[in-house]
Amino acid sequence: MLAKREDMILDELRSIVGKDNATAAKHIRYAYSYDLSFVKPKLPDYVVMATTVEQVQGIMKLANREKIPVVPFTAGTNIGGLCIPERGGILLDLKRMNKILRLDTESHYAVIEPGVSHAKLATELYKHNLRWSWPVGPPSACSASCAISHGIGGLSGRYGLNSEEITSMEVVLPTGELVRAGSCAIQEDAWHSVLPLPQLDGLFKGWLGTTGVVTKLGLRVHPIPPVLKVFTVSTRNIEDMVSYVFNLGNYEICDDLTAVSWWLAQVPIPYPYTPKPDDTPEWFCFGTTFSWTEKEKEAREEIWQNVLKEEQNKGTSIEYAEYPEEALRARTQLPSQIVGSTKNYTKMAGGGISWPGTFTPVNKWAPVYNKWKDILIEHNLSPAVRVTNYRGVHYGMLRAMIPFNKKSSAETENARKAIVECLKVDLDAGGIPYKPPVDFAVEINKRAHPGYLSLLKQVKKLLDPNDIMNPGKLGI
Ligand SMILES: Cc1cc2nc3c(=O)[nH]c(=O)nc-3n(C[C@H](O)[C@H](O)[C@H](O)COP(=O)(O)OP(=O)(O)OC[C@H]3O[C@@H](n4cnc5c(N)ncnc54)[C@H](O)[C@@H]3O)c2cc1C
Repeated sequence: MLAKREDMILDELRSIVGKDNATAAKHIRYAYSYDLSFVKPKLPDYVVMATTVEQVQGIMKLANREKIPVVPFTAGTNIGGLCIPERGGILLDLKRMNKILRLDTESHYAVIEPGVSHAKLATELYKHNLRWSWPVGPPSACSASCAISHGIGGLSGRYGLNSEEITSMEVVLPTGELVRAGSCAIQEDAWHSVLPLPQLDGLFKGWLGTTGVVTKLGLRVHPIPPVLKVFTVSTRNIEDMVSYVFNLGNYEICDDLTAVSWWLAQVPIPYPYTPKPDDTPEWFCFGTTFSWTEKEKEAREEIWQNVLKEEQNKGTSIEYAEYPEEALRARTQLPSQIVGSTKNYTKMAGGGISWPGTFTPVNKWAPVYNKWKDILIEHNLSPAVRVTNYRGVHYGMLRAMIPFNKKSSAETENARKAIVECLKVDLDAGGIPYKPPVDFAVEINKRAHPGYLSLLKQVKKLLDPNDIMNPGKLGI
């Protein structure tokens, strides 16, 4: 009887997307059952590739009627197991919905389908001297997924998170209903702003694909000033680096103000843990600036030099640092094939990588990092940590990139334990993880105000009455 139902569902999926675009073949399902992270693999029951909004609606109506889970997927590079189907069901691969529907070079926004990769969007934008806030992730990953998942990119110092760049969106709800948020909801053709309407786009940002399928997304894009200058310094410890980031962050002159520990600066990241040579600084910082004129660049340089002097006068270990040419290119020519290549992170370790990735107040970076360092070294893992200031305010990304040997279940479990332990330390200090795997969601919810959890559940129930969208991911 069961087999019959599965066949009937596969037939119906094929009638929606075409015979070649829906399958239950095990070797294809297998390819979608795992990612780079420590999250345990789980098989979907069907893999379906949609190419139109109507097809997505048809799939959702079927799934809702039959109460089958649906997991939206574009490239699966999120490093949090977010596309691993907790409860089987339909793996909805959207990468063939890959059209750039509009590039408004006057109002500075693009409208894209969910399968548009960073590489594809960048190629189009660069023709018009425009840019977006590219992450240092793989160029094959998709811009819309990064934006709705509160991703972070090379312009987050200047413009904030990728999700803050969203101007409008179209979404298929779990029931199959088509909805819109932002200006496009009022005038079919206007995709320039989510404000001043109620921010309904918030119902689909940071929800890890559990509330609907985004089918069109408007994104702000920005002109590229021609004069690049990167300010590079090193310090012997995290405390001195935090002091510098606090100070320079006040002036809001950097597109990206990021510091990395010695272990993250190595290619590949050492696995297992390797001690840092004693005579090498522990932290390296690059502040990327783009200016319209040489004079503007010099003004920024003057501010930076004043900050550097102030930090030196405080007696910190800060020093001007020469950055390797390749590292600078990797940080400024985004999307980056150098940093974005996962082989740089994982290949030597054995194919696994996970992270405790968090938004943490800058004044908590040092105490949390010092604890992370102890935890990670205890687990024979490198404290390959990055901090990035957001938009001049004093909070930002604090994350560790942890490669591990995915071929060994013991080594994978070791990494998982260490990372969850790190996460707990950060949560206790007021940090919040982004793109959280279920293990993290559980820790978040343990600490959550009952009113937050209640609201979360009510909204989820309203949008997804049968709990079919990426079920289990919110840990509720
Ligand atoms: C080496 C490396 C470095 C990275 N560096 C960064 C970085 O600097 N900054 C950063 O932000 N990220 C980074 N990432 C993470 C990742 O690359 C980005 O988040 C990426 O843009 C995700 O795109 P994707 O296409 O792989 O999304 P996926 O992994 O396919 O999906 C991500 C989430 O979005 C959901 N989803 C996908 N499409 C839809 C849709 N249409 N509607 C609703 N939900 C949907 C999925 O269900 C999932 O929950 C890095 C990854 C790697 C491997």
